[in-house]
Amino acid sequence: MPPLNFHPAGRHFLGIPGPSPVPDRLLRAMSYPTIDHRGPEFGALGLKVLQGMQAIFKTRHPVAIYPASGTGAWEAALVNTLSPGDQVLMFETGHFATLWNKMALRLGLQPEFIGLPGIEGWRRGVQADMVEERLRADREHRIRAVCVVHNETSTGVTSDIAAVRRAIDAAKHPALLLVDTISGLASADYRHDEWGVDVTVSGSQKGLMLPPGISFNALSPRALEAARQSKLPRSFWAWDEIVEMNRTGYWPYTPNTNLLYALAEAIDMLLEEGLDEVFARHQRLAAACRAAVDAWGLEIQCADPTVYSPVLTGVMMPAGVDADAVRKLIYSRFNLSLGAGLGKVKGLMFRIGHLGDCNDLTLLAHVAGCEMGLELAGVRLAASGTSAAMASLKAAAGARERPAARSI
Ligand code: PLP
Repeated sequence: MPPLNFHPAGRHFLGIPGPSPVPDRLLRAMSYPTIDHRGPEFGALGLKVLQGMQAIFKTRHPVAIYPASGTGAWEAALVNTLSPGDQVLMFETGHFATLWNKMALRLGLQPEFIGLPGIEGWRRGVQADMVEERLRADREHRIRAVCVVHNETSTGVTSDIAAVRRAIDAAKHPALLLVDTISGLASADYRHDEWGVDVTVSGSQKGLMLPPGISFNALSPRALEAARQSKLPRSFWAWDEIVEMNRTGYWPYTPNTNLLYALAEAIDMLLEEGLDEVFARHQRLAAACRAAVDAWGLEIQCADPTVYSPVLTGVMMPAGVDADAVRKLIYSRFNLSLGAGLGKVKGLMFRIGHLGDCNDLTLLAHVAGCEMGLELAGVRLAASGTSAAMASLKAAAGARERPAARSI
């Protein structure tokens, strides 16, 4: 293991799909002095981030903010709304959906894990018709919640959450809708209220551009009502005390003050750029990345173009090529980290992240690093992906309205 102060020249290229690069503006905000979390200034910071996160989730209802990783917020969503032995319907889209399912089992729930057979399910998003069919068959309404992942970070596949909501409504089923958008929020369009989501789970280290350490539950009035009836044990995760104290901008325990400074700054950055612009930038980078993979003649893990992820692209290796060996070579030669294939696709693919504080030239650096590494690893490429990505970004830049010229 290299010493922890090991820094090669230049910036490290953090091409994993989260944690994503932290912009200097957030690093500076984090270095403000830590203040008294019960003092008068803190309440203003608390209210600012709580209100700001409502804008990011597109909700008018409370958002709980935890000093925890996304896994904690998964647990919070389940333990606040459900009771021991409750049936929940979960959809297998990839590794993270599988981990959430495992957590539900450990918590004493009865999760039913449905999906397309084999690896096919890891190449397509949630099939809303399968959800509807299963809910229609549940005439006694034993299923208490439907849990889906909006952006599967393990594969680069998104899911149509509005379609899942329509499926639940079409089946006239009262199940709650719990959605993980840990890697989708602030990168891909997301609408908590409009899509009728009851609990949205998210984290700080992806589209929000913060380091790991904060996670979220956006709530609905039905979720808050369910929390009044549910019986799974909870203390740290319990929404009631948090929501009550949040009214004045405070928490029942010590929140991570310096990360909240960064969160306030991140919200400003996202709203200054405009959420629609942020989403369009992610779509542009994703399209350029896919153009590169197509030019190489390699396959994209997501097999349904309608649900390509704007956050990351999964690149499948030709038969016989170990994706992890390629990844390691790229890391050691070009100081570029890429995401590994996880679970069922370990060694079969790697993941290129294009989320958060990324722009056209960041994407080009990632693609060029991959191209050189693939060639050094002996993978035969059909054509230059870097040139294809440049052509894609150049066309998009030509079509974009020029920003107003700044006077110097
Ligand atoms: N869900 C998704 C979609 C994720 O991408 C991740 C982490 O990458 C998690 C859940 C788990 O979050 P954490 O690692 O922050 O606990």
